[in-house]
Amino acid sequence: MSEQNIPKGEPVAFQAEIQQVLDILIHSLYSEPEIFLRELVSNASDALNRFKFTKLTEENVLEPDAELGIWIKGDTEAGTLTIRDSGIGMTGDEMVASIGTIAKSGASEFIEAMKEKGEAADEVIGRFGVGFYSVFMVADEVKVSSRSFQPDAKGSVWTSDGKGTYVLEEADIAERGTTIEIKLKEDHKAFAESYRLSSTIRKHSDFVEFPIYVEEKPYTPEGEEEKPAEFKKANEQSALWRESSKDIDDEKYKSFYQALTMDYAGDPLMRLHLQTDVPLQLYSLLFIPSKRNFQMFRSEEDFGLKLYVRKVMIQEKFKELLPPYLRFVQGVVDTEDLPLNVSRQMVQESPLIKKMGEVLIGRIASELKKMAKKDVEKYNTFWKEFGIFLKEGVASDFQHKDKWIELLRFNTTQSETQDDIHSLAQYVECMKPDQEEIYYVSAENFNTVSRSPHLEYFREND
Ligand code: ADP
Ligand code: MG
Repeated sequence: MSEQNIPKGEPVAFQAEIQQVLDILIHSLYSEPEIFLRELVSNASDALNRFKFTKLTEENVLEPDAELGIWIKGDTEAGTLTIRDSGIGMTGDEMVASIGTIAKSGASEFIEAMKEKGEAADEVIGRFGVGFYSVFMVADEVKVSSRSFQPDAKGSVWTSDGKGTYVLEEADIAERGTTIEIKLKEDHKAFAESYRLSSTIRKHSDFVEFPIYVEEKPYTPEGEEEKPAEFKKANEQSALWRESSKDIDDEKYKSFYQALTMDYAGDPLMRLHLQTDVPLQLYSLLFIPSKRNFQMFRSEEDFGLKLYVRKVMIQEKFKELLPPYLRFVQGVVDTEDLPLNVSRQMVQESPLIKKMGEVLIGRIASELKKMAKKDVEKYNTFWKEFGIFLKEGVASDFQHKDKWIELLRFNTTQSETQDDIHSLAQYVECMKPDQEEIYYVSAENFNTVSRSPHLEYFREND
């Protein structure tokens, strides 16, 4: 559907899946309804990143010099909350496409996760591309006003109570970006309090790269003239990957991991904080999750590292750095060596990307090797969850397969349990003097013993 087909000022029905998502959100009970703020702030941050990127190549933008930030204001008496960003904004068409229509398949997957798997909406919503709607956990009514960065686009306003329809109207809006006004439900009015807002921001959105300001009304002692309200920055706004690992504790890495992957219940199994000067100036913070049960398997397309060039986010899911079989690795890569004013296409094809990829692949492999040596139990956990990907690597990536071969683990005829796994080197060591072939059991059928013709290869590489 497009804006042209939308009757202005009249109620339009949500698409069926969206309404189902809304019904779930409106009628369930949540342990953490506050995460709506995290979702709205994350959208604002995405919009700011997209503006920052667009401005590199686009000369004609509305308010090119306006500060890039997020401003939040609560009114406890009225029970309202306003969140404004100076990001890329939305045209009416974009509003219709983004909120009201299912742009992605996420809505039905979210519904399935709720209904069939009984997951808690507030824990998983960010992963399904329907985060915006989480606002209806706390809102009786939501009004989104937006003005696109395109100077001649008109402003638009979208309003809804989440109960079946929304209304789209044109409006005069002077500033670029998006403002979301929320009429809080009676039992969620506390979200309008500034200390509650600041602490929620610190808890869930501390790593957002743009300043998040929360309006505070200074305390006025009785009899004195009332002091004006002021916006105070509530988040730390740190690019963790550029900081020294000496200054970062496990807790901080963990919350960065959670904010990045939306795996809010999880802990990373491995992290790799990498800062190099040669052959490239590179800052990277990579993680391997402890389980392979989310996001990365949502779809074939849904993987990739977050690529920054000099702190500007160039792409959210950049696929050219790591081979597809390493899609379980998640994280951020930032480099000083690419020029900023190039197209995405050129970035993808740059030989520097290939070099960066080599550095990362090498470090991931050596880090895993270290783990396999130092902490066998942990490596076995890794193998159970992600071993299959390394096998894919051996089979599909001729250039790097030797790195992964060392990391392969197998059950052998000497395995006492299925958890008792051996490397190829260990296998070869245990071979009888006259044994000429490798026998292996396939993962699908533990009882079948087959003979492998590849023994020569392992002997040569020993
Ligand atoms: P996701 O963020 O995963 O795409 P959401 O439901 O959170 O899913 O948001 C849906 C879409 O609405 C976004 O992809 C974006 O296009 C648009 N959107 C939401 N909030 C904003 C905003 N503050 N500024 C610009 N676009 C926004
Ligand atoms: Mg979102």
